[in-house]
Amino acid sequence: MARRFDGFPDVQLNLNVRGVPRSATLAINERCATMEREGRTVYRLGLGQSPFPVPVPVVEALRRNAHQKDYLPVQGLGELRETIAGQHRDEFGVDCEADDVLVGPGSKELMFLLQLVYYGDLVIPTPAWVSYAPQARIIGRHVHLLTTRPDNGWRLSPDQLRMLCALDPGRPRIVVLNYPSNPTGGTYSETELEALAEVAAANRVVLLSDEIYGRLHHDGEHRSIVPLYPQGTIFSGGLSKWCGAGGWRLGVFVLPRQMRWLLDAMAAAASETFTSTSAPIQYAAVRAFEGGPAIDAYLVQCRRILKGLGAVLTRRLRAGGLDVLDPEGAFYLFPDFGPHLDRLKAAGITTSDALCERLLADTGVAILPGSQFGRPPEELVARIAYVNFDGEAALSAVRDLSDDAPVDDAFLTRWCAPTVEAIDRIVGWVEGVG
Ligand code: PLP
Repeated sequence: MARRFDGFPDVQLNLNVRGVPRSATLAINERCATMEREGRTVYRLGLGQSPFPVPVPVVEALRRNAHQKDYLPVQGLGELRETIAGQHRDEFGVDCEADDVLVGPGSKELMFLLQLVYYGDLVIPTPAWVSYAPQARIIGRHVHLLTTRPDNGWRLSPDQLRMLCALDPGRPRIVVLNYPSNPTGGTYSETELEALAEVAAANRVVLLSDEIYGRLHHDGEHRSIVPLYPQGTIFSGGLSKWCGAGGWRLGVFVLPRQMRWLLDAMAAAASETFTSTSAPIQYAAVRAFEGGPAIDAYLVQCRRILKGLGAVLTRRLRAGGLDVLDPEGAFYLFPDFGPHLDRLKAAGITTSDALCERLLADTGVAILPGSQFGRPPEELVARIAYVNFDGEAALSAVRDLSDDAPVDDAFLTRWCAPTVEAIDRIVGWVEGVG
């Protein structure tokens, strides 16, 4: 007699992925969509997506290249790699050629490939972006978290790195540095980068320098560690954040020539998986990386809004008794609700997960718990992505302001209303809870 088919048991899953949930940032987005369908007003401060449109010249380049239909070289379109290498030379003053560049469908995918082919530990200063550690776990690499502190601006100190390297000097390791930072909005000064580069070079560690928010430094003064440790630093960037093109899926790695073996292994793995990055997107990306006055002007105005908004929100959060760092780049804040600990405890809230759950249920404001960024569950910190506004409208309004006019409360209350309102809701909630 035929046996009834009752599905496949999940014991057939690879142990490394069993119980691994979907990325928290994507999950919160889906949750918000469901709440909206149920008729709730939701403030989307969970997913870290640029609010701004893709610059017009880049959209036009994509339109002109919609007909590009051939598979491209696995390492990336030659013209695009030339453009990126040229920019790397100009910006960082380092020796770099097209063959040092690897293009992929998002820098996230390239990071996964890197971990797949490199046999070593992943060292992550926390708080850190949500995906580094799950990627390592899926592949089966050992993850080493280095805890940073708010009184040090949530930055990795050279001593922490030195102590880690002293533990087992010859051990292969990739150390992730992400600046401007997701989730804190902070970054490193030139002097701080020099000190870290010195320790990294002395210990021959591989640095993964995730500079995806570099061009969103609020004053346009991003500094990179690449010229300070060119032989050991892998640069990671792409179109997603500064160009408002997360959904286009284009990321870039630039590797030192000494690591060509690593690039070749990544390209081999890519050739057996995604084959090559979307052709029209790569052609359009050439225009994006060429830059020029229109793109520079776009960036100036995006930064102006982000800087103004970051300052106003920080001020309002502090007025509500929360501790938070002044952001220097990107579009994130990482406030500490600790000063309200007693009241939160009285309301039964003792973890950052519970805090975000209750906040969402009570106010409709979606933010992500610090636990997702590698912090201990009972630390009452959370990430705010201050991106819930119409970026196109805000950009066109800021262009109408004179160059020296401030992007102040009045401007932001009008043009970034949902985000400002959400912050006021957070403050009102935390002051009334318990
Ligand atoms: N690195 C950081 C710090 C990020 O915040 C993100 C996206 O949110 C990425 C990397 C991945 O970006 P993408 O895969 O879109 O290039």
